[in-house]
Amino acid sequence: MTRFCETPSFHACPNCKKQYSQPRLISLNNFYDLYYFDGYEDTKTKSLFFPVVQCQACDSIFKRSELSDINAESIDSNTLNTFESIKPANVEYYFEQLNNVNNTDSNELEVRLEAMWQFNQPFRKEHMNQEIQPTQHVTLKEQAIQNENRLLELLPNSDSGLTIKADILRRRSLFNDAKELMRQITTSELRHNKALFNYLCTRKIVDVVHTSFDPDPDRVICKKMTEDQKQFARNQKKIWDNKRYLTIATSSRYSFYELLTMLCVFISAAYFIYFLIS
Ligand SMILES: [Zn+2]
Repeated sequence: MTRFCETPSFHACPNCKKQYSQPRLISLNNFYDLYYFDGYEDTKTKSLFFPVVQCQACDSIFKRSELSDINAESIDSNTLNTFESIKPANVEYYFEQLNNVNNTDSNELEVRLEAMWQFNQPFRKEHMNQEIQPTQHVTLKEQAIQNENRLLELLPNSDSGLTIKADILRRRSLFNDAKELMRQITTSELRHNKALFNYLCTRKIVDVVHTSFDPDPDRVICKKMTEDQKQFARNQKKIWDNKRYLTIATSSRYSFYELLTMLCVFISAAYFIYFLIS
């Protein structure tokens, strides 16, 4: 279970001294972690402790480690809950990093992957309710395509490399080429991912999705359900009828009680035949 200390830690921007709070982790689990086909891992630690941050007051961007610490005892207890949490650097920052990276740099792959992941961030299915900034998206779109083109050249033919390359092609609607790349993965543990990926291609789905994505949410009929409710309903094989969850057909053809009845009938018949013969 992921748990936090009752009081967060407090830090200040190194530039304008604006103060922020940061949750303090006691324990962590990876129960809700999501792994995307574009290679991005949506983990609790990543969402809370992104390494590069941006001050909301002065807009300066710096490493999280550069935040200066504030002694919690020096803070008025009435103001403890009024501190904002620090935000990640904007997507432009990651694209600016691309201008500083050369084809010979050992970290080129890392920098380009990070730019692609940050660009895809507002379009991840789980983040769709977040506000997408269309201007930002349009401005960076050409650069994002060029970045992906270079990634197609750079990524190795490892399982993860092939998956990310195939996903770039899928999101460009090049479904046959995408499936061809995915076919080269032979690791048996990844057969679920491969099956889901092929299904996405067959259905011509080009969204940014993770490896636990359910492409058939239509089974859940209430439009007003939250994503969490839909996920719960799908996991429980239930539908929501506006008032409560109803169980929908399970994969088993007969229920336990039907099977028990059939067994009883069979035993009675066998006993009857045995009685007649003897
Ligand atoms: Zn600042």
